[in-house]
Amino acid sequence: MISKSLLLPEPASPAHICPFDQACSYLEAAAKELNLNQGLLEILSHPRKVVTVSIPVKLDDGEIQVLAGHRVQHSDVLGPYKGGIRYHPAVTLREVSALAMLMTWKCALLGIPYGGAKGGIPIDPKRYSVGELERISRRYISELIKDIGPSVDIPAPDMGTSAREMAWMMDTYSVNVGHAVPGVVTGKPLSIGGSLGREMATGRGVMIIVREALAEQGKSLVGVRVAIQGFGNVGSAAAELLYEAGAKIIAVSTGAGGVFSDIGLDIPQLKVYAAENRKSIMGFPESVPISNADLLTLPCDVLIPAALENQITEENVNQVQAQIVAEAANGPVTLEANLALEARGVTVLPDILANAGGVVVSYLEWVQGISYVFWDEERVNREMEHLMVHAYHRVIHQSKVRQISLRLAAYTLGVGRVAQALTDRGLYP
Ligand code: NAD
Repeated sequence: MISKSLLLPEPASPAHICPFDQACSYLEAAAKELNLNQGLLEILSHPRKVVTVSIPVKLDDGEIQVLAGHRVQHSDVLGPYKGGIRYHPAVTLREVSALAMLMTWKCALLGIPYGGAKGGIPIDPKRYSVGELERISRRYISELIKDIGPSVDIPAPDMGTSAREMAWMMDTYSVNVGHAVPGVVTGKPLSIGGSLGREMATGRGVMIIVREALAEQGKSLVGVRVAIQGFGNVGSAAAELLYEAGAKIIAVSTGAGGVFSDIGLDIPQLKVYAAENRKSIMGFPESVPISNADLLTLPCDVLIPAALENQITEENVNQVQAQIVAEAANGPVTLEANLALEARGVTVLPDILANAGGVVVSYLEWVQGISYVFWDEERVNREMEHLMVHAYHRVIHQSKVRQISLRLAAYTLGVGRVAQALTDRGLYP
């Protein structure tokens, strides 16, 4: 049993699924499997640094609003902290802390020399103008200026943020230190040191892991029926690459609802349609509307939740019909639902593996940025695929050798690597 973190507030209510408690449960299970001692477990269960800053912003109408901005640095045992920045109304310090911890295990599992961090501001970015978002992003990063840096903590995009916000953040940091620092954030525009392949990277990684899981079952992607929740950066890229590989994408959704076609959606056309309709996919020709709840329980081979946490829960897990669930989002399957799926023999491809393509290419972007040598897209994709496939096979091997689920296998590999490094480095002082 882990003691309570002194750095974090209590969860909202006992009934609420607390993402941080859930992350700690996975950590505890991995620690038990690895026979880690209690002291190591205590260290790994606590974020190293938790920062909340206030962000005063002048709105377009002249009013001043003060927002909260979080950054949680979970572990830097293996290298600089690394993790995205989320703009979403449901952001809480406990959620950011859970996501920071996930990043630590993800980087360790993939063999990337980074620790884990995450940041977030509880806002709905759709309710702010571009100018307001720029002022929010710049003030947030300037408040954190002493806590980030190319060898300290390297932010990246997450839900509600994109290359645009990364450019503002890179500029703010660079102006403050007096010279251009491309390595301070990843997921930047190409013009300022972004990497080819980064935009599609998380979706590409999802496609690769699903492809490998199907191959394990003697199948290919051709004709496989796929439902995807979320059509943002990750969901739309995964949809496009799976479509190109021959899969049939029967449904996709956004926060406003989804579209379904039994013969498969034309994904390139849907991307054009969404771009022309301010990201809305509703009313796409030759499709029928479908709710987010119904999408999750469609008869399909592969289900890809690529939006929010806690989408497959005790309430709907028994209706899930897919044989493979690929966690493109972070934490979309709750602990109980995960156990129920595993008991039914459903393959759950865990988030720290399935959505790691983004951080892998972020790492490749950072390597290019600090060496000032830039690669073509083919090389970026090849290096990423190599790391993803290697990690997948290590997880499969661990799962078979220890007779444990893929999630526990992935966690034991990630947690085990950090625990070993911590033991080798020793405790200061
Ligand atoms: P995004 O903001 O680009 O897209 C999110 C999508 O989810 C949008 O289509 C949005 O409409 C939809 N959505 C929002 N609320 C929803 C709801 N209640 N029900 C259904 N759909 C809803 O975000 P993203 O970058 O694609 O991230 C999606 C998930 O993937 C997040 O969990 C994120 O942490 C994870 N992730 C992202 C990256 C990355 O590189 N962007 C990397 C690893 C993991």
